[in-house]
Amino acid sequence: MNDTTSPVLVADNITVRYRKGRRHFTALDNVSVRIPHGTTVGLVGESGSGKSTLAKAILGLVPVTTGRVELLGEDITHLTGRRRRELGRSIQAVFQDPNTSLNPSFTIRRSLIEPLKAQNMLGGIDVDGRVAEVLTAVGMEPDAAFRRPRQFSGGQRQRISIARALITNPQVVVCDEAVSALDLSVQAQVLNLLTDLQRERGLSYLFISHDMSVVKHICHEVTVLYRGVIKESGATRLVTTQPVDPYTRALLLAAPIADPAMQRQRQRPTTAGAAT
Ligand code: ADP
Ligand code: MG
Repeated sequence: MNDTTSPVLVADNITVRYRKGRRHFTALDNVSVRIPHGTTVGLVGESGSGKSTLAKAILGLVPVTTGRVELLGEDITHLTGRRRRELGRSIQAVFQDPNTSLNPSFTIRRSLIEPLKAQNMLGGIDVDGRVAEVLTAVGMEPDAAFRRPRQFSGGQRQRISIARALITNPQVVVCDEAVSALDLSVQAQVLNLLTDLQRERGLSYLFISHDMSVVKHICHEVTVLYRGVIKESGATRLVTTQPVDPYTRALLLAAPIADPAMQRQRQRPTTAGAAT
């Protein structure tokens, strides 16, 4: 985690403007994030702050107006074609809604091997071996491959979405609200799984959430985004215990606290903080 480690992913001064009819809307204004190898960097902010836009800019799904995206030391900002596809193996994503990665009418196997197809990786590998390996890695039985999404709970579907992200052996996984739709106890299990996978595989995560309490659990560093602008960033412990920006304090106050004693303490007027 120290600064001399070369980062696996760098987003440098990213600005994204969307066209809205004849007008432009700046969804991200000079946003920079760097992810050191093997770490989890959080991106937190309320709905509409631009989190998914940054995820999409990094994944090459929306064009960057200005700025630079670097993956494993290579500038991929405007990269297309074969090289982009090759590098795409190194970065995968998990989204909030498993329906975006698991087609309800496909078997799990068919959805799992889609990234392999997209990356031209089906030839010369033991596809079913790989499917079984990633399912096992996320705590599922290999025969899940032959069932369909509706036969699984929300938590299991999200595990399968993670398996799908792992199948190309990526180094970076972008998790965009990956646990946000899950119940608290299931959230905790999936967060533990992500942490275990990071340790076992040396994965790096860009972990996006609107929920500070989730970010606190899993992220080494955190960047706070508000209306497309970075308000604060740094080591999670520092940002969450000594926030300098009123918006960060407001986010911390909005985060649900599992411990009832802490909850009571937070409700005392003296500890409520300046921000609302
Ligand atoms: P978040 O993920 O933090 O909720 P988004 O990145 O999805 O935020 O959206 C940031 C802002 O950009 C919002 O105001 C949203 O309405 C706007 N936006 C997102 N996608 C588009 C688009 N394709 N065209 C125009 N505006 C968009
Ligand atoms: Mg979003």
